[in-house]
Amino acid sequence: MNIHEHQAKDILKKFGAPVPNGVPIFSLDEIDEKIKKIKTSKIVLKAQIHAGGRGKAGGVKVVDNIDQLKSEAKNLLGKVLITHQTGPQGREVKRLYIEEASEIHKEFYLSCLVDRASSKIAFISSAEGGMDIEEVANKTPEKIITTRVSLENGLSEKEIKQILEPYNLPENSIQQAEKLIQSIYDALINTDANLIEVNPLVLTKDNSVLCLDAKINFDSNALYRHPDIVALRDLNEEDPAEIEASKHDLAYIKLDGVIGCMVNGAGLAMATMDIIKLYGSEPANFLDVGGGATKEKVSAAFKIILSDKNVKGILINIFGGIMRCDVIAEGVIAAAKETNLSVPLVVRLAGTKFEEGKKILEQSDLKIIPASNLSEAAKKIVEAIK
Ligand code: ADP
Ligand code: MG
Repeated sequence: MNIHEHQAKDILKKFGAPVPNGVPIFSLDEIDEKIKKIKTSKIVLKAQIHAGGRGKAGGVKVVDNIDQLKSEAKNLLGKVLITHQTGPQGREVKRLYIEEASEIHKEFYLSCLVDRASSKIAFISSAEGGMDIEEVANKTPEKIITTRVSLENGLSEKEIKQILEPYNLPENSIQQAEKLIQSIYDALINTDANLIEVNPLVLTKDNSVLCLDAKINFDSNALYRHPDIVALRDLNEEDPAEIEASKHDLAYIKLDGVIGCMVNGAGLAMATMDIIKLYGSEPANFLDVGGGATKEKVSAAFKIILSDKNVKGILINIFGGIMRCDVIAEGVIAAAKETNLSVPLVVRLAGTKFEEGKKILEQSDLKIIPASNLSEAAKKIVEAIK
């Protein structure tokens, strides 16, 4: 789960990391009241969307007075911001963050994440901040330092020094920076975050270090331990189909292709996506209906697939174990009735109660293209959408 920059900064602050003072607003008439909390003459206005690259896209404005602030806020609120992270459809700006402007001397990159390969916490630091770290990683990988910290021992002084090394900080800001690194680590561990990214981390002209941007991604499997973090969820920023799927406890991820997939089991779902690609098309989604899905759940899954306007055909690939093929068939028929299905549907059923499932589908008036194995099923759906 992702949160907004202003929420991430609140969390970092709670763990002791220095962040600029700021206030979020949801409408223009909040400005007069909230601006009283801002103490600098220059003010920064930042669009709050769950995507980076706002600076380059006009989503971050530095202004000199309240009138300018109001006019920029009027421009930004309700605007669809397109950044390199939003995709071409962009994101509507529904809240803004008003923040004290910092006098920046240097911008750095800092992130802290769960590194599954080493079972450690990795810090990534680079003097090349404020820009695409991916580009730095591609062109000048030697400018990026990775420091891996073991969970058993926690952060050592030596590791903190190594993390800070690329920044080449002046003597009188080192202590503050060391404390900042520890706060980021504490925040990641205590909130069950997967990633905390501060880009840029800045050194100000008066030698303070400050987190000027903040992104946090949380491990969804641990959210049950953090109701306060769940409360920060902003459904405006999530795909409606994914929200609907989470209501039904379906593992669904929307993709860019044209063939909707309904599969049971994550491994089979991956194999199905691979084989669709093998035959020259692209999957429109990953969807695992899970083990003991009910007719209602299957029906919800089918409707979610159909709600994607890119879907030109559907491939149902079920290997019945705990999941029964007759339940799948009933769910599909119920959903198809409600949605008047107009795209080709290929069904491959195998395993528990597959004969009953097949019979149910045959007896319905749905136009179904049957397939007896995965390869045939993929070939048929790719052919059918041509
Ligand atoms: P994004 O990563 O989405 O582009 P950032 O929060 O990193 O957004 O802001 C982009 C740039 O705007 C920063 O690299 C920094 O130069 C400037 N900036 C952001 N916040 C402030 C601030 N409080 N004071 C001064 N400059 C800022
Ligand atoms: Mg940034």
